[in-house]
Amino acid sequence: MAEFKQEPITIDGSAGEGGGQVLRSALTMAMLTGRPFAMEKIRAGRRRSGLLRQHLTCVRAATAICNAEVEGADLGSQSLRFTPGDLQGGDFRFEVGSAGSAMLVLQTVLLPLALSGQPATLSISGGTHNPAAPPFEFIARAYLKVLREAGLSIEAELRRPGFMPAGGGEVFVDVSPASGRPTVVQSPHKTSSIDASPALDLMARGELLDASLEALIAHLPTSIAEREIQTFLKRAPALPAPGVGWKTEVLRHDTSPGPGNALLATLNFEHVREVVFVPGQKGVSAETVAERLADALGAYLQHDAPVGEHLADQLLVVLAALGRGRFRCGELSSHARTQLELLPRFTGREFEVNERDDGTFDVGLESQ
Ligand code: AMP
Repeated sequence: MAEFKQEPITIDGSAGEGGGQVLRSALTMAMLTGRPFAMEKIRAGRRRSGLLRQHLTCVRAATAICNAEVEGADLGSQSLRFTPGDLQGGDFRFEVGSAGSAMLVLQTVLLPLALSGQPATLSISGGTHNPAAPPFEFIARAYLKVLREAGLSIEAELRRPGFMPAGGGEVFVDVSPASGRPTVVQSPHKTSSIDASPALDLMARGELLDASLEALIAHLPTSIAEREIQTFLKRAPALPAPGVGWKTEVLRHDTSPGPGNALLATLNFEHVREVVFVPGQKGVSAETVAERLADALGAYLQHDAPVGEHLADQLLVVLAALGRGRFRCGELSSHARTQLELLPRFTGREFEVNERDDGTFDVGLESQ
């Protein structure tokens, strides 16, 4: 039978947020749906537009796991044509080649691999604790918890942290097959009928079980981490469980090739984990880092929705990939709004979004 060539979906990379996420989500959805796309004005909303190393590595990783045909996969390229082939498992190694985020490369290919029905391992080198990207702990604790509850089997290990500007971190991920669509749904909100229960169902936080504050430090004085912890504890918003206090820890990460620092707060609720992260930066005091973290945590604790700002835009891709489910989030960032526009172009299905009186949002995708 002659092969049917589909028209590519045309995407304006400058639309909405106009950043790397538009490209990464398009790659993920193309791999999952088999639909080709052509993108122009890649990352035109950013100061340095076009494909930087991280984005190029995302394109190469996607190309490798599904034998794609691709045009425009060059550094600085403003346009790309991507025609996916069949997904295949295996052992993959990708190198960003700069301090660009290895975690964002991982997120681009993880769902297609996990839903390919074949085992896979991934070793990705680059940055693991970058500004404006999920740090390793966010992926390992917050994001993967949701995927596991939806029935996917994925383990992630931080082999070596990589900070800006040196990079050189490494993450290793083991993906066990889930055939086509996850079958296990473990959720407190499960309805009585298994068939009707969503794969992703995250409407409430549940009780706060513990709270931890970690100051990561590499090739810099430990006193920086200690000052961050002290300042944070003075400024931290009240926790929503009287019996729970902060467990604090300084983590020396001197296996990292270069210096670095990050402050991370993890709130472990019954049904969700939130990881709030502020990277240390040259010229920014330890006290300022701690204050920024306290403020970011305050924003999450102002409402009682389980899904925070960053997890929300990432879970929209999970919903689109699984084809059903729902979650409740505190706000819809410009990243999330951009996803709400882009993802239905691949799936042909709109999300249902309802704002509650308290300003939180219910987001869902009905089973077909
Ligand atoms: P872009 O800016 O388009 O490259 O997309 C950045 C992605 O990183 C989005 O999915 C953000 O939600 C995510 N992100 C940025 N900062 C954080 C953070 N502190 N924690 C978790 N995810 C983040």
